[in-house]
Amino acid sequence: MQYEGVLRKMQTEIGSPIQYYMVFENDFLNVNQVLDKTLEINFIKSQCLNCGQDRAIYRQGFCKSCFFDIPSAGDWIMRPELSTAHLDKEDRDLEYEKKYSYSRISFISPIQVISKSALPESLKCPPVGSTKAPMKRLK
Ligand SMILES: [Zn+2]
Repeated sequence: MQYEGVLRKMQTEIGSPIQYYMVFENDFLNVNQVLDKTLEINFIKSQCLNCGQDRAIYRQGFCKSCFFDIPSAGDWIMRPELSTAHLDKEDRDLEYEKKYSYSRISFISPIQVISKSALPESLKCPPVGSTKAPMKRLK
């Protein structure tokens, strides 16, 4: 069998064992089925994951131009606290940033609605005026 395509992060499927797939444009390879086989991988060319051009890869699979231009490579992707989309200030593409930075925040927010009674005693805030030690930080 011979496959040709861009190497990307493998897709996974829950199971026992977890299934790993190398997905190409028109085909895929179940990596679990070839774990005991000898594979030969040949480099053909670089290909930017955004523009698809044969350019040197700078970071995260993108050429230097795309890395500094496209919204999906903005600093706030890895560090959502850097997003200013909630202030209507765009880094690269305000609509994109609002859509994805807000969805990341909403993913985190359920942690904030845990009822106080469900928290262990060490994580509860002391009542106002209490001399108890302050709440421990979550790691
Ligand atoms: Zn590019």
